[in-house]
Order: sequence, then structure tokens, then C-alpha cells
Amino acid sequence: MLTRNSNFMLAKTKNINLDFKLLFVPSWVMDYVIVHELAHSKVSNHSNAFWQLVASAMPKYKDAKKWLRKHEGIISAQICAGKNFLDDKAAANFIKSINNENI
Ligand SMILES: [Zn+2]
Repeated sequence: MLTRNSNFMLAKTKNINLDFKLLFVPSWVMDYVIVHELAHSKVSNHSNAFWQLVASAMPKYKDAKKWLRKHEGIISAQICAGKNFLDDKAAANFIKSINNENI
């Protein structure tokens, strides 16, 4: 899953771990994931204070959350179907299509 536990910051080391499936999301969605994880360096939970901090860095963060909810199943299904994203033209077209799609 892209929206739950697959991306996280280790509190002890402050290292951010990102799901490889984020390679297939638009850059503005990736920006949200990075902002989200960086915000956890200040606020560990998802309280109002956390979301206010995220919004201060990325006012339209809800659009990225919406995009992730809409597309995470599609991306996972493509990967589970054994798509070779490095060589498969169809997979490349898939990535192109989801990156150009409006939310
Ligand atoms: Zn979080």
C-alpha cells in the first residue's frame, strides 16, 4: 500500500523509507509523501497539528492523498501482474497515462 505503512520515518534515526511503487507516481504526489514523512520528524501522529504542518508546506496536500487512494490499487495490480517496468512498452504507457491523468 502506498498510503499506509509502506512509507515511514524511523523516529530513532530520522531515516525515511519509501515504497518502491512511488517510482510510478507523479512528482507532485511524491512531494506530498516526502512532506508527510518529514512532518513526522516534528509530529509523530496524525493529529490536527500534524496536518496543519503538512498544509503549511503543501497547501493542496489533499489532492495528493486523493490521487494516492485512487491509484494505489492500479499500480499494485500492474506490479503483481508481473509487468516489467523497465522494458515493457505497455507498462511505460501505463506510467505515462497515470502521470498525465487529472485527479
Ligand atoms: Zn503519517
